[in-house]
Amino acid sequence: MDVIPGAWRRTAAGAGLLSAAGEVAPTIFAEMSAAAVRTGAINLGQGFPDEDGPAAVLEAAREAIAAGANQYPPGRGIPDLLEAISAHQRRFYRLVVDPATEVLVTAGATEALTATLLALIDSPDDEVVVFEPYYDSYAAAVALAGARLRTVPLRAPGFQPDLGELADAVTDRTRIILVNDPHNPTGAVFGDEVQREIVRLAERHDAIIVTDEVYEHLSFASPHIPLATLPGAAERTLTISSAGKTFSTTGWKIGWVHGPAALITAVLTVKQYLTYVNGSPFQPAIALGLRLPDAVFADAASALRAKHALLGEALRTAGFEVHAPQGGYFTVADATALGGADAAAFCRTLPERAGVVAIPISAFVSAARRDDYAGLVRFAACKRVDVLEEAARRLAGLRGA
Ligand code: PMP
Ligand code: GLN
Repeated sequence: MDVIPGAWRRTAAGAGLLSAAGEVAPTIFAEMSAAAVRTGAINLGQGFPDEDGPAAVLEAAREAIAAGANQYPPGRGIPDLLEAISAHQRRFYRLVVDPATEVLVTAGATEALTATLLALIDSPDDEVVVFEPYYDSYAAAVALAGARLRTVPLRAPGFQPDLGELADAVTDRTRIILVNDPHNPTGAVFGDEVQREIVRLAERHDAIIVTDEVYEHLSFASPHIPLATLPGAAERTLTISSAGKTFSTTGWKIGWVHGPAALITAVLTVKQYLTYVNGSPFQPAIALGLRLPDAVFADAASALRAKHALLGEALRTAGFEVHAPQGGYFTVADATALGGADAAAFCRTLPERAGVVAIPISAFVSAARRDDYAGLVRFAACKRVDVLEEAARRLAGLRGA
């Protein structure tokens, strides 16, 4: 493994980017996927589907390569995709977005998030408020941008924030409130009251709202509501999403961010030096995908919902306490009754014990709050039904073990 020169350690250390030995630590997802390959266990750790999405989308990428879409696309993204994103926002959410000035195509939601933080953080005193547990790149990107992370806990059951704790976290030092909804890893979808409070606090403290809506089409209980649709929100919100989950193309890394033109220009300024551009032949394919009929989107959500039901039942039968998700790829379960009060240790032995890989929620939590989530484990439901059924058989053996 590479050793990062000391100068970098100062900026990176707080984010846990390095191991104690100063080495580049692999992400928890890479580590757990490697454990699955090593042990032959079923990988319910890293969130990626094991079957392809719409055939028309895949075919469009092949055609684009054959037609020569193999050189740098324009910096903001190809016009066809910019227009498709704008039309998608209008069709599903009645959001009006100018494709020429208010949208930017990025290398996945990950780049959109990192470029946004790097662009908008002004000083080391700026704070970014996030809900905890949080997706792993958030703390790393906040550290890279040189800001402070303020977290608001989401607690079981329900994983909705306490409005008092949210109000306490947002102050005049808050530059950004970063909201992932539907939420990874908890599966929460934030209620109307929470959404309104986020917008109210952002207005009161003149903060920018940045959303991560990569699971926008995988909300089970209720239709997804982007924060940008709330009164007063659009002018201070950058909405981020990605095609990876919607079309089962996580490896294509086509994401986007839209919002007020001045903010998009700021993000573009950074983005052009991160990747400049990406995914020439994938951009027209995702443009086609975004224009597919409503049924394609609804079917993806109902298929995943059925998989969560199967997984949830398997986990209950095995002796876990299950927190059924309202959206997204993941089901969270409490392993305490199975001797998993320390879920990190439990997940380390699970591949050998049961032939299944899962991720402890502690991987998404800051050190100070780790004990509050100690028994919780995240399982990915975005796998083939036969794979989930085999996982169910394996997990059932845990009770007697
Ligand atoms: N945000 C969340 C909440 C995610 O779960 C993921 C990855 N699955 C990402 C961002 C990254 O998305 P992308 O692969 O488009 O960069
Ligand atoms: N978002 C995926 C997850 O939560 C992983 C993506 C990654 O490996 N960075 O599992």
